[in-house]
Parts: sequence; C-alpha cells; structure tokens
Amino acid sequence: MTDARVETRSWKVGAATITSVVEDQSELPPGLLFPDAGEEMVQRHPWLVPDWADAAGGISLRTQAFVVEIEGRTVLVDPCVGNGKVRWLPMWNDLDLPFLERFADAGFSPAAVELVLHTHLHADHVGWDTHREGERWVPTFTGARHLYTQAELDFVRTAVLPGEDVYGDSIAPIIDAGLADVIEPDADLGSGLRLESSPGHTPGHASLWIESNSEHALITGDFMHHPLQFAEPQLAEIADADVEVARSTRLRMIREMARTGALVLGTHFPSRPAGRVVADGERWRFVAE
Ligand SMILES: [Zn+2]
Ligand SMILES: [Zn+2]
Repeated sequence: MTDARVETRSWKVGAATITSVVEDQSELPPGLLFPDAGEEMVQRHPWLVPDWADAAGGISLRTQAFVVEIEGRTVLVDPCVGNGKVRWLPMWNDLDLPFLERFADAGFSPAAVELVLHTHLHADHVGWDTHREGERWVPTFTGARHLYTQAELDFVRTAVLPGEDVYGDSIAPIIDAGLADVIEPDADLGSGLRLESSPGHTPGHASLWIESNSEHALITGDFMHHPLQFAEPQLAEIADADVEVARSTRLRMIREMARTGALVLGTHFPSRPAGRVVADGERWRFVAE
C-alpha cells in the first residue's frame, strides 16, 4: 500500500501538469509552528480532519517540491531541505531521505530541469539545489537557471541560524557555477508562469501563478504554512520575519485564491496539498482535490 504521507501526486491545470514530490512529512503540536495556536483551536475546525489534522488537534507539516510541466518546459519549485546539510532545526539536520529517488520514479531527470524557482531562500526551499561530492557542494540541476530575488539574496546572509550556512552550501555553489539569475518578485517567466510578490514571511518572497487554457493555479510558498490558516488567517508562523506584513499578504492572497477559484498548491500542506479555497462566513475553508 502506498504511504499517503509521502505519495507522489499530480494535478492538471489546462495543458500543464503539476506534480508534488515529497521529501518528508511529520506530525507536530500546532503551537510549535504557530505560537498563538493550540489543539483546541485546530479542533474548532473539524473540516481539517483527517487530511491536515488529527482529531486530537495535532497537525502535520510536509516538505515537498512542485514540478510544473508546461509548454515542454520543466520547472522545479522550492527543492526542500536536502541531504547531509548541517541545520539548526533537529528535524532538518543531516537528513538522509530518498527525495531524488522519488523525483526519478516520477519520471523526472535532474538534467532536464530548465528552471529552479525559489519562493524564498529559507533552508527548506533550496536544499536539493546542491549535493555533496567529496568535500564540496555541487549543483544538482546542472542544466537549469536558478532564480532568486535580490531581497532574498540580501536577507539570507543576515538571517543566519547557529551552526548553519545556507548561503555557503546551497546558494554560493550555484552562483559560482554561473547557473543563477536575479529576477524581480513579480517577474513574468513566460509560458503562463508569473510571479506575484508576497512579502512578510521573508522580504523578497514571491508566489507562482500558473495559467494554461484559461485555468489557474497558485503555488503558495510560505505566506501560509497550513490549511488551518484559511480558518485563522491572523495566525503568524514562527519564522514570519514581519508578522504584520505577512498577515496582510496572507489575507490579500486568500481573497485572490477564493475570487479566482484557482487550484491552490500549499508548499507545506500535508497529505492532500492541492485544493480550492471557499468562503465560510467571515473565514475560509480548503477543499482538497
Ligand atoms: Zn520559510
Ligand atoms: Zn518553508
């Protein structure tokens, strides 16, 4: 039987295909991710169970990358934590997980990736860009342009957690190999791919809209972390750099998702990461697809 926690799944958006390749999924108490949330808050929204929460009010969080195939192009979004990296968070430190095997099993080849897009440069969004070869970190997606906003490149060098060097092990090797491009947070990437600036979680955060044959999808990145935030959009996540900006971005984006009826792919959403946003009185709800 397939393990739903790490299952590879795909969705169609017009003529485009979006695939989730999972690195890992863990259960955790909601307060660890959202300082103002507890189990009783989760339990007030029973629609979260069983896909995104359990009956006791625990939640799950996933690291996954989305692969967008559109007009013959292969675009990888937010390649997770990576293996063997020194990370401050114990759950991300020195991982040994079969992400690249799942990537290959889904029919993808690292050399065929044309673009690697990062919604922002936290450690869990850039990891597989490099892998260890002897003492060196070398690029994984050797034929890809890797896209960064300048605000993120500046921020990643100031917001450093003890013991880790995200810039040194996951970004500098890409720049040194000549595989990096700096883009605007609202860049049009062609083929129906368009970025929208969505700051607050980090200063240069951007989310990806996908349009094909008049159908729309959005890959969120971290302006929200869990479907609980549709019901509780005021909830700040522990790593939100500017809580107030993050809150206003989240409300604006949620209204936009509900208005357009877009297929929403939540970068950290567990188990069933894709769905539509529907209004539920003064709040919103997420309906999985
Ligand atoms: Zn983040
Ligand atoms: Zn993240």
